[in-house]
Order: sequence, then C-alpha cells, then structure tokens
Amino acid sequence: MLRSNKGLPTAPADLPVTLREVVEYRKSGLSLNHVVGCPLDCAYCVRHLFDNYDMKKPHLVMDDETAVVALTSHWAFRPHQTPIQIFNRATDPFLPRVKDHLHRTLELLDGQGLTNPVLVISRWRVDADDVERMERLTNLKLTVLVTWSGIDDDRLEPIDGAVAEKSLATLAAHAIRTKLVLYWRPIIAGINDSADVIERARELARLADATVFTGLFHRDQIRAHMRSIGMPDLYDSAPRRKIMPRLVERNILDAFANQPIFRKTSCAVAHAHGIADYNGHVGIESICDICPAGQVDICAAAHAKPPRKLISELAREAGLATGTIEIANGRILVDDSTEQQRYFIQHATGFQVHDRSHPHLPGRHGRAEEGWE
Ligand code: SF4
Repeated sequence: MLRSNKGLPTAPADLPVTLREVVEYRKSGLSLNHVVGCPLDCAYCVRHLFDNYDMKKPHLVMDDETAVVALTSHWAFRPHQTPIQIFNRATDPFLPRVKDHLHRTLELLDGQGLTNPVLVISRWRVDADDVERMERLTNLKLTVLVTWSGIDDDRLEPIDGAVAEKSLATLAAHAIRTKLVLYWRPIIAGINDSADVIERARELARLADATVFTGLFHRDQIRAHMRSIGMPDLYDSAPRRKIMPRLVERNILDAFANQPIFRKTSCAVAHAHGIADYNGHVGIESICDICPAGQVDICAAAHAKPPRKLISELAREAGLATGTIEIANGRILVDDSTEQQRYFIQHATGFQVHDRSHPHLPGRHGRAEEGWE
C-alpha cells in the first residue's frame, strides 16, 4: 500500500527479493532501503551485486511510514542503540524526490524520540535547505558522509567530484548538530592515489568533522562490468573484502600525519560525535594507532568485556549456536554465523565479533590480501 509516494514510481513486481526486503543488517548498522534505483552510473556500484544496476530511475518499494515500522520492528533493532543507515544500498539519498523520502524518514524516526546513530551517505548535491531541515531534528545522532574519490575517469565515475565538494562546503557552512564526514572512497591503486589527489583530500578533510578512507570492492560482478565498459582489470583478485594495498595506505597515512583520518567508517562517525565506536574496534590491535589520543580514551573507557551470559542471550536471539563461542584478544569468536548475526551482537555489546572461518589478520584491518602479500 502506498500512502505518500511523492512522485517516485512504484517498484516493479519483479524486483529481486533481496531488494524487496527493505531492512538489512550491515556493518555500519541496520540499513533501510525502501527506494531503489540510481542514475549516477558509478562503475564500481554495489548494485551490481543485487542485479539492480540497470534500474536508473529511483523507485519506491513502500511508503516511509511502513518502512519505518519495518525498521523499528525488526528483530535486531534496539531503540537508542542500533546504528541506522538510510538509502545506502541501492540509490543516493539526496537525489531529487528521493530526498523527500530521506527527510520524511528521518523525521518519523526522530519524532519517536529515538537517539540512535543514523548514517546518510551521498555523493550528490546537498543544499542549504536540506541541511536546515536536518538541523531541525532533535534526537537522532545524524551523520552525513559525503562520498568523494578524486577519480577523474568518466568510465569509472561520470559524476563530477565538484558536486560532492560543494556538498561538503554547504554542510560545513550550515550544519551544527548534523555531523559531517568526508568519505574518501573508493581509493584504487594507480587511479586516485597520486600525491595531488591526496593533497586535495587533505584540503577537503579540513571541512569535515572526520575523514575516513577505504578501498574498492572488486567483486566478480563489479569486475565483469568494468570489463564490459573497456576498463582494464584494476586488481588481479576479486575478494570478498575491500582492497587497500599496503603502499597506498602508507602514502595516505604519511600525508595525514598531522591530520586525523580513520580506517573505519564507524570510527569516523564516533569521532565526529565525540562518542565511542559502536563497532568496538578498540579491541583490535593496531587499528587505533592513527586515532587521536582523546578519541582513544573515549573508546577505551567504553570498551568492556561483555558478560558471557549476555553474549549467549544475544546469540540465541540472533539464532546463533552458542556452544563454541569464546572471548579472546578483544573479540568474540563464533562459528557458522551470518554477517547479520555478528553485527547484531557487535552493536549490542560494543565488542568485535569475528567468525573463525574469516579470520582477521594482524595489521590488515579486515581488508583483502591483495597488496599485502
Ligand atoms: S580509538 Fe580505535 S576504535 Fe575508537 S575511534 Fe579511534 S580507531 Fe576507532
């Protein structure tokens, strides 16, 4: 039933089931995606993984009121705790008409008095009107993450990076309670890791409350699309994790020696708000070596080993077998888990949860092997 579609067409009946399920648990939180479709044509888009890349017009899967109920009644949702993301899977939240739904959804959540962290990620135009409307929220801990890459190859990214730069400037000029993160991604070796791009990132970072840098998801479907548009392979492998080669990271960290920068999205969000990282990265050796001392103190003070009983209760709630669960070296180790189960326990405890079948290697920070062998 559609009560307020405000001009977006309704999603077609043959929309893949994964996209019809508008709530999904991702590392940065419960993700609400009741609009799908995007005209921006970034070649590395994760919509390749959902078979949705060819839907260029945004479509509405359900109205905002129904979507908010789906989110807040989801088994994993915790008022005031679970991080939320809106429209981060299959559209850009600030596209024309899509942003009406973004604002409405934010206002519906805020109107319930919820104080959960909310992440909104965009590379599109954020106007002063948008910022003013978001500034009227009073409860949610809102962060707008402006995606900027420094890529100037139109095959990879047809959108002019100046659009994101202007959004950053607009947010920096008008936002007070809404926090602003420069989301520098995807960084690709040999494409946008030159000294000039790094210098531009340093300039843009000065506008933001925090900056995070990440690599490329180079999955099979994304590589196949790149090949179809005539791009030579960007990397040899197509791993499940993002690729951030050691040398690229080293160059960026050297350039940012006197400027804060974060490896993890939730760390940048935490720093922007002056709160502890809800993913508990502080338990993992060497992730925090680049973090400002005051932020490390905040995270360390909040990081406590959760009681075994609580972990077992959460695991049962998530439908995860409890027999082999163990707490060691700042993380909870589990077996045969899904990402949703791990993230639920992680966000409920502020403690990292890893599956033994996907070990995190020291110093690798959960990234792919490529560039580190
Ligand atoms: S102290 Fe560690 S966990 Fe906390 S924000 Fe910094 S890098 Fe992230």
